[in-house]
Amino acid sequence: MTALVGKPATDWEPVIGLEIHVQLKTRTKMFCRCETSFGLEPNVRTCPTCLAHPGTLPVANGQAIEWTIKFGLAVGCRIADRALFARKNYFYQDLPKGYQISQYEAPLCVGGRLVVPGPDGEREIRLNRAHLEEDAAKTIHVGGVEGRIVGAEHSLVDFNRGGTPLMEIVTEPDIHSAEEAKRFLQLLRQTVVELGISDAEMEKGTLRCDANISIRPAGSSELRTRCELKNMNSFNFIGRGIDAEIARQIAVYESGGEISQDTYDFDAASGTLTVHRTKEEAEDYRYFPEPDLVPYEPRSELIERLEAELPELPGVRLARIAPVVGYETALDLVTSARDALYTKLIAVGAEPKAAANVLMNQLAAAGVDPEAVNPDELAKLIERRSEIPGAVFNEGVAASGTDSFAAIDFISQSSISDTSELEPLIDRILAANPGQVEQYRGGKQGLLGFFVGQVMKESGGKANAKVVSELVRAKLND
Ligand code: ADP
Ligand code: ZN
Ligand code: MG
Repeated sequence: MTALVGKPATDWEPVIGLEIHVQLKTRTKMFCRCETSFGLEPNVRTCPTCLAHPGTLPVANGQAIEWTIKFGLAVGCRIADRALFARKNYFYQDLPKGYQISQYEAPLCVGGRLVVPGPDGEREIRLNRAHLEEDAAKTIHVGGVEGRIVGAEHSLVDFNRGGTPLMEIVTEPDIHSAEEAKRFLQLLRQTVVELGISDAEMEKGTLRCDANISIRPAGSSELRTRCELKNMNSFNFIGRGIDAEIARQIAVYESGGEISQDTYDFDAASGTLTVHRTKEEAEDYRYFPEPDLVPYEPRSELIERLEAELPELPGVRLARIAPVVGYETALDLVTSARDALYTKLIAVGAEPKAAANVLMNQLAAAGVDPEAVNPDELAKLIERRSEIPGAVFNEGVAASGTDSFAAIDFISQSSISDTSELEPLIDRILAANPGQVEQYRGGKQGLLGFFVGQVMKESGGKANAKVVSELVRAKLND
């Protein structure tokens, strides 16, 4: 082989597949009748079954199964005719049975896709599967560094979470940037929230995401050795973690090294990656069909009913709105559940960009529930925006969620355009700035803005700038 002199640095393409865990918000756990819980005193939601006492048997939660199928239908999965539960064996204190009941060979949902609109058009991310399993208990390591097991004095286990239904969604390695991974996850999150099957909150751990990452020379279609990133508990960390891992792999390859298949933790505080463990293989888990549960064969009536219940999905709405207001704004609208109000505003004639802007700024800042807003009145307010003082506009948006809100009345009550109220104010400002008045009269017309600004300030931003400017000009030209 000849070394090429001056060979340009390789362009690398990231290849990313995500494994996402969604805690389903069923009333009870996956295989026993304990209530699911969050934030309770430790170990108050347990029973012999989820503590794995000898002789207990699991009974599958029908609601969790239905919801997983519902998700599968929403994203175009093939629903299994005959799904199996499987034992995934591993030994750790968060798993009292010594195995987790999961699915392996015949998951409930196979294939499917989520179309993720982005700045460069739509991208289809294929799903590999969605299956159902039980969550492990929560372990707290005491005395170590930052809650890690290494160096800990002892560990505490809270079994309240143990046995909670978890839907695991695995994507194909179709994602090619940290940004795209975040967008995919945002859309997926919104989808499960709107299906009503999970709260999917990363901070609470009801949505968790691991990223499998490799890189390859741009243009190639090979799949190189991947690493897995775990424990990223916010969208921001996911983005930063993936970028850090891509940079690490590029550095390894460009210095002539090789990647070994390891699992990393991303430490957000330092922005660094630490090896968590070397990758286990599927055979390490000794999967086999769960003998205590019969295979599950969904009835066609169930599938038909679930299909009929599907709402219009956020991805569809996103694709419809994005061409009008741009992709970023559309994603903000859809994932903040403000797009229904946006659509109503457009329907009554509001200008799309202005409407989107107000919903994502003033309305969001004021914490107004979009469902409480009367779109006709808010549209009128938006239409008058350029004619009314900024402070009045903001207050109007903040008040738009109240029952009796009427835009025109609000504007006339809140903004000061009454000359008898404005004149004394203007006189005061002119009297306080004799030097500027003289300069203006001497030809420095640009000072008009200064006087108007002072009056606006004095009025707490509520004076009608147009009226003020006319009055000031009239007085100075006297
Ligand atoms: P395992 O069974 O070992 O967990 P899977 O085949 O189930 O492996 O893949 C796990 C995840 O890793 C999937 O999201 C998949 O898309 C992703 N993945 C597989 N190979 C690669 C690769 N070379 N680079 C990036 N991601 C990958
Ligand atoms: Zn229980
Ligand atoms: Mg896997």
